[in-house]
Amino acid sequence: MVARSPAGTSLHRDEAELAITVSLNGVGEAFDPDEPNSSALVEAHGFTLLIDCGHSAVRALWQRHMHPDQIDAIYLTHHHADHVLGLVPLLDRFGFDGRRRRLVIHTTQWGINHLRRLFEIGFVRLDEKSPFPLEFRVAASGQAIGPFAVDLAPTIHAVATRAIMLSVDGRHFAWSGDGRPTDEALTLYRRAHVLMHECYAVTPDRNTPYHADLPMVSSIEGPERIGLYHIGVAMRDGVRHKVLGDKRLFFAETGMVLNV
Ligand SMILES: [Zn+2]
Repeated sequence: MVARSPAGTSLHRDEAELAITVSLNGVGEAFDPDEPNSSALVEAHGFTLLIDCGHSAVRALWQRHMHPDQIDAIYLTHHHADHVLGLVPLLDRFGFDGRRRRLVIHTTQWGINHLRRLFEIGFVRLDEKSPFPLEFRVAASGQAIGPFAVDLAPTIHAVATRAIMLSVDGRHFAWSGDGRPTDEALTLYRRAHVLMHECYAVTPDRNTPYHADLPMVSSIEGPERIGLYHIGVAMRDGVRHKVLGDKRLFFAETGMVLNV
């Protein structure tokens, strides 16, 4: 894996053999006053998938000055506010900026019904007057999203959440979404070259049963590198300090680019 800082330093692998590029659009938890909500842009073979789009993630996307057609598809790990509420302004602006290309949103059947309600309230058109075609698909393991082969696994979270692994050309990138890993998720992560895992707390905390902590994430077997994100605001410095110099774990920063 190659981690490039927001300033754009460092490379380890040959650019030519890189299959997946991951841009961390945000690494913050739900209530982080500074960091955008956790979300990422995952690219391969000219296809761009956005994972999650919370209320503050959308501003971080706009700061990138992206072309309205750049994102091909969106995958939602779950439907908490900090993972989906940015979709209304994002789609609104796509229309305003002249998007005409189809956009596909991959989530659960429950999630599709939720988005229909959300979009109705937010005046996002789903009828023939929509400025661009919008399609919903129920995401499932074994499907493809663009060039990516997809594998999903549930996590232990307050609402139904599915971690995703995206595979292209023998390279595997996994994103946990929120929550503690299930056995199924651990099996999935075993094949990942790079895993981005939520890590809410430095130490196990009985009061946060629906989030992972540092010892839990450290014990995950398989990935060459594990990036920690969605860290509780009060625990960011603690997590950063603990993984300083670690060969496998790294503290994720908004704007980081990972070459998997
Ligand atoms: Zn959540």
